[in-house]
Amino acid sequence: MQSILIIAPNWIGDAVMTQPLLASLKKKYPDSHIDVLASTWVAPIYRACSEVNQVIEAKFEHQQLQWNLRKQIAAELKAKKYQACFVLPNSFKSAIIPWLANIPFRIGYRGEMRFGLINLALDNPSKMNRPPMVEHYLALSQLLKEETSPFNAVTPQLNVSLSAKQVVLNKLQTSNIKSDSIYVLCPGAEYGPSKRWPTEYFATLASRLVSENPNNQVILLGSKGDDIFGQQILAQVDQNSCIHNWCGSTTLDEAIALIGMSKAVISNDSGLMHIAAALKVPQVAIFGSSDPAHTPPLSNQAKVIWLDLPCSPCHKRECPLGHLRCLNDILPEQVFATLNTFNE
Ligand code: SF4
Repeated sequence: MQSILIIAPNWIGDAVMTQPLLASLKKKYPDSHIDVLASTWVAPIYRACSEVNQVIEAKFEHQQLQWNLRKQIAAELKAKKYQACFVLPNSFKSAIIPWLANIPFRIGYRGEMRFGLINLALDNPSKMNRPPMVEHYLALSQLLKEETSPFNAVTPQLNVSLSAKQVVLNKLQTSNIKSDSIYVLCPGAEYGPSKRWPTEYFATLASRLVSENPNNQVILLGSKGDDIFGQQILAQVDQNSCIHNWCGSTTLDEAIALIGMSKAVISNDSGLMHIAAALKVPQVAIFGSSDPAHTPPLSNQAKVIWLDLPCSPCHKRECPLGHLRCLNDILPEQVFATLNTFNE
């Protein structure tokens, strides 16, 4: 197998969890050329994967078919004569391009009515019995070749781009932030409020970290959409303290670099959590309505806090019971104490 195309998922966390599939393909086919077709917002994840030769960025929009764009990309990819394509999203539209590009092996889950578009398929896992996402993606590699590999030792790995690291170092210098004791706090989670630990708790934790040691710096990291949470946290802490809101002011490549140089990351169950795990940075991951057995941070440096209430995991975006105890009952002291276990 000389040339393989991957159609990337559309969520950052899912993208991180596809890296073991890439590593497994590279191991099976060491001379293969692996390219990834990715939307602009997940492309940086694949630029941080050493197995990938080329990341092809496309301006896909959520919930849009964009037929002309897909036809145009398929025509360009056809010339590259890929031998196999792994279609990782489950949507019908994601399977159109490899079919139009005449890629002989089109591999994926059956997904949404994709008969014919996908010609090497696994059945969709049942919602009640979903395997962890890394295993879910890895299972597809077996369709290409009759070979099994042990899944349990496989975890995603990302590399930090040197140019992004230099940009971050420049930004830190401009903001007069020393790079040797940075705690990254990630208050966002795109899925919804039932995955977001309260901002007042993040504020308390941030204040505790900077009061504990005058060298500590806290950087709040997230997307533009998370800036509101960054602002809420800043409004609740001492304005002269070493707490900085970088939500919305980094690219994803820079966010990866910043996480890579941090002392620890504290986050919700989010894409940035998976990035910290793939970089093997010490981290505390706070889970609310989701299930850490399904999407855990895959790192021996990760500690998960999950209360496992009788109502958990409900997988709802907002708490159907109105109290959000799965997150409100996780107090900043518990997170701080968990963080301190890294020093023991
Ligand atoms: S129902 Fe339970 S698990 Fe779901 S959001 Fe509410 S407190 Fe959390």
